[in-house]
Amino acid sequence: MSLKRVITFAVALLASLGLVAATSLVVLTTYLHRATLSMQASVEGIRIAQDFEVTLLNLHRLQGSLRRGDAVTVSTIEEAERHLSVQLERTRRQAHSEEERELLTQVDKAFSLYLDAQGRALEVPAGQMSAELNLRLENTLVAINQLIALNIQEARAEQSQVDHWDEMANLAGMGVAVLLVLGVVVLLVWMRRSVFRPLLGISRAMRRFGTDGERTEAPLEGSRELRDMARTFNEMADSLQNQRQARLTFLAGVAHDLRNPLSALKMSAALVSSRGPVSEERLRKTMSLVSRQVSRLDRMVGDLLDATRIEAGHFELKLEERDAGELATSVVELYRSSGAAHELRLVLPDEPLPLRCDATRVEQVLNNLVSNALKYSREGSVVAVEVRREGEEVWLSVKDEGIGISAEELRHLFAPFQRTGSAREKAPGVGIGLSVARRIVEAHGGRIEVESSPGQGSTFRVRLPRAPRVSASREVRPGPFAPDPVFS
Ligand code: ADP
Repeated sequence: MSLKRVITFAVALLASLGLVAATSLVVLTTYLHRATLSMQASVEGIRIAQDFEVTLLNLHRLQGSLRRGDAVTVSTIEEAERHLSVQLERTRRQAHSEEERELLTQVDKAFSLYLDAQGRALEVPAGQMSAELNLRLENTLVAINQLIALNIQEARAEQSQVDHWDEMANLAGMGVAVLLVLGVVVLLVWMRRSVFRPLLGISRAMRRFGTDGERTEAPLEGSRELRDMARTFNEMADSLQNQRQARLTFLAGVAHDLRNPLSALKMSAALVSSRGPVSEERLRKTMSLVSRQVSRLDRMVGDLLDATRIEAGHFELKLEERDAGELATSVVELYRSSGAAHELRLVLPDEPLPLRCDATRVEQVLNNLVSNALKYSREGSVVAVEVRREGEEVWLSVKDEGIGISAEELRHLFAPFQRTGSAREKAPGVGIGLSVARRIVEAHGGRIEVESSPGQGSTFRVRLPRAPRVSASREVRPGPFAPDPVFS
């Protein structure tokens, strides 16, 4: 699973939990607020009803005193009656259920009947109305007590609902907390298995590779990102290992190739400086050998320098207009004059073929191709160099009847330090000439192609644009020496 997906999932889960908890909290507090208001109303209802009860009993006592002729003013009684009406009105406003309103109507009715009876009682002799009055008072008190009982019942019901919600909220809170803890535990276990352990593996492999140069595989485990990271590290380590190997092979090749001409030079020097007489013929042969070995050394060092310059990005082209045929002729003549044991053929177009190029570099490419053709084919065989025009291109081909190259080897032929198995047996070499040639040709905006099969000879073809679209002095940037040959 990918790290990104897990983190997104964990964040989404946390956010959802937070949202659910916040919404529940809002709903709960709103409900509790309403419940509190309703309980407050019930308690207030009880208080007013009880107050009414007390005032009513007081009024009843005052009316009794008045009828008996005690010193009670009518205004005190009227004041008590007004107070009772006000309390009744407040109780009505406080009522919050249909049942309560019905009970209030009953209280109102009973109270009105009581007041009626009181009014009549003042006109008849004392004692005549007391039974009826007591009954009316009893009825009013019963109705009020029913109202109080209803309010108490409502308050209790509200209280039990609040207790229930409290319990639910506790449960929900605990559930969210347990889910959170579980989520964190699962995340930690997953992180440990899929992030920390693989990271440790990669860092261990990096440390071992960095300090001891030891090639160890970073484990391909854990989240997708870390597996990608480990894979990239392994590929990078492989590539560095290959480069290290290539450097060693290169050094060994250079040392080996320097040794051969150097031993030949050493032997020639020993011969010339020997005390005994040396015939003129022998001296001439020795000097010719010395000259061949020196030019071989010169070419090798030149190729090495070019390869280094290309890698360092200090390789420049000096473009000028030259006849392509003339360039090919000078290369072929050079080999003819050095007494090559092959039949060197040159095929040129009837007309001069102007080519805008760095003449020295193009000659260097041709030199390398002709030298290879001679090196990797038997003495006496034909090596043909052909120059021709193909549309807006100039084609320079070098064809031999030599050992040839297998299809598999052709794929890496232009990468540096690549040598075919049969070439190794046939002649010494370092394997950088073709890679340098390819860079030079590509810098001119051209391409180099090869056709070959084992034992059937090879044809190398350089295709250059007649007027390359490059500036007069062009710097060749280093690039990956990727095997990218062109087969035709
Ligand atoms: P070198 O010849 O010094 O090894 P090059 O870069 O010029 O280096 O050539 C690379 C390899 O390509 C050679 O080692 C050889 O295996 C192969 N090669 C090049 N030219 C030919 C050819 N004409 N015939 C057969 N093999 C060739």
